Amino acid sequence: MTGLIVQKYGGTSVGTTERIKNVAQRIAEVQRTGKDVMVVVSAMAGETDKLLAMAREFSDHPQHREIDLLLSSGERISAALLTIALNALGCQAVSMTGRQIGLVTDSSHTRARIKHIDASRAKELLNNKHVVVVAGFQGINEQGDVTTLGRGGSDTSAVAVAVALGAERCEIYTDVDGVYTADPNMVADARKLDVVYYEEMLEMASLGAKVLQIRCVEVAKKYKMPLVVRSSYNNEEGTLICEENPSMERPQVSGIMYQKNQSKVTVRGVPDEPGIAAGIFDALAEAAISVDMIIQNVSAEGHADISFTLDTDHLVEAMEVMKKTAHQFKPENLISDSNIAKISIVGEGMRSHSGIASVMFRTLSNENINILMISTSEIRVSCIIESKYTELAVRALHDAFALKTAPTDMDAKAKAEQTKAL
Ligand code: ADP
Ligand code: ASP
Ligand code: MG
Repeated sequence: MTGLIVQKYGGTSVGTTERIKNVAQRIAEVQRTGKDVMVVVSAMAGETDKLLAMAREFSDHPQHREIDLLLSSGERISAALLTIALNALGCQAVSMTGRQIGLVTDSSHTRARIKHIDASRAKELLNNKHVVVVAGFQGINEQGDVTTLGRGGSDTSAVAVAVALGAERCEIYTDVDGVYTADPNMVADARKLDVVYYEEMLEMASLGAKVLQIRCVEVAKKYKMPLVVRSSYNNEEGTLICEENPSMERPQVSGIMYQKNQSKVTVRGVPDEPGIAAGIFDALAEAAISVDMIIQNVSAEGHADISFTLDTDHLVEAMEVMKKTAHQFKPENLISDSNIAKISIVGEGMRSHSGIASVMFRTLSNENINILMISTSEIRVSCIIESKYTELAVRALHDAFALKTAPTDMDAKAKAEQTKAL
């Protein structure tokens, strides 16, 4: 639909009835300019965690199907309240659940993937000049059971409906002014980026910049849907996330990311022979446990140590799997460490510049921070360090790459180019 804008409001943006009134006013103003507006909302801040904690009072392993039904209620509450607030302002609005918006997913409860959206009813309502308010984060599977899209999944709902309805762009409203060079709640002099390319944003989201869920960036990239990350507290311009413009020069490093909820498992002294790594990682894959970094050291005596990292949420399960399958690879020792963090630097400019990793390693060494593991891609370098040094490392790297000041007016130029193209 030409002229359609999809706006997504996160948990803090709809965290109180006062905030909901404020959001309703913003939406009403956009509608007055003649634009069609579709809105996707998250649950009120803290609601999803509160519901999860209640479920855990009954069981350590609540059924994922029931968790989905439970959690989907959070988004329904905010969708209904915002719609009531909009109607009270004289702005015709209708709320819709995942089922009503026709958002069909696979059956992987708590982390479902979207299969398709039949937005015909929403289209009709928009054509009749209604604001459609969608409960984010949820859909239904082919059996009609409620599913959810993983934590932070309302971002993905928003991009998916924007794509399904052919929106001009998708605006993600949150509690910060855009995507920053580092988490602005950790680094006081972090700088807002005017433009971030999809590829960089994919890395940033997967490496800890929780401002956007990674799936939302994947969908936006696939369908070339421009994303704008903005604050719901002011009218600043925000960050544009869009396709790469090869003619524009990019900074070597655009941002520093961190992930604290990481653990390392080391399987020490396994035979150095074919099939050992396959056995270990087959067992983990069968248990649907995703691992992140992997390293193997080979010793002189025909033995090897294999270490891997994963989300701490899966550590207990991973250790159980390792103990159960240990008879296959007979390790001398099996150890885990949950006091680690992953620190990453990301930048499109790394493709064409060398020596960036060494600046990272030198900076960590100057702070006396030991690097436990390293991994790289074309536009990223990640290091595992002791988690107690996370803040120190992020701030030191932010300084070392001089991120608080814009590298010339590169960002502004890139933004001007991209905005012209929209
Ligand atoms: P919402 O509830 O609106 O979905 P989130 O809490 O999911 O908001 O995401 C916004 C938060 O992301 C910010 O408050 C900020 O602390 C965090 N964040 C982490 N890294 C970054 C970054 N590089 N740029 C912006 N925000 C970041
Ligand atoms: N309410 C869900 C969460 O807290 C989804 C979202 O906010 O996007 O993860
Ligand atoms: Mg979020």
